[in-house]
Amino acid sequence: MTLVSVKENRATQLKEPVSTAESTEMMAYCPGCKAFQTVWLNGDRLMNTRKFTQVGDSIYHNCGSAQPCRLYAL
Ligand SMILES: [Zn+2]
Repeated sequence: MTLVSVKENRATQLKEPVSTAESTEMMAYCPGCKAFQTVWLNGDRLMNTRKFTQVGDSIYHNCGSAQPCRLYAL
């Protein structure tokens, strides 16, 4: 009995990680000044966005509104 072993060299093709992290574009609506603006979230973290500050899970506009912005998916 002869066993023939065939070795397959399979190149594992892994996708290289994209340099830009997974980010989501959302519309932020400020109930204080009624402004709409696009913001970018990385997971649930606000990415560096001027005019907006993240406090816990809420995002506040820097117009001084005491109410957090509402986020809408695009
Ligand atoms: Zn505002």
